[in-house]
Amino acid sequence: MLRLLIIILSLVLLVALLTRLFSKKLPRQDEKHIAKMVQCDYCQTYVPHNSAVKHAARYYCCEEHKGASKSKPPV
Ligand SMILES: [Zn+2]
Repeated sequence: MLRLLIIILSLVLLVALLTRLFSKKLPRQDEKHIAKMVQCDYCQTYVPHNSAVKHAARYYCCEEHKGASKSKPPV
C-alpha cells in the first residue's frame, strides 16, 4: 500500500514539473515573435519583420506599397 502511494505521488510531481517547464517555454517564443514587427512606411500598418519588404532602410507591407511610396507621398 505504501509503495503504491509513493509511486502515485512521484507521478503527480513529475507531471507537475513537466507542465511547468512547457508553460514557461511557450510564452518566451511568442514574445520573440511579437518583438519583430515593423511599420509600413506608406500605410503605417504593422507587419512581421520576416515578411516585410525592405527598401532604402524603410519597410513596406507589400511590393505595391513599395512602388506607391516612390510616386505618391505617404497618406
Ligand atoms: Zn503598406
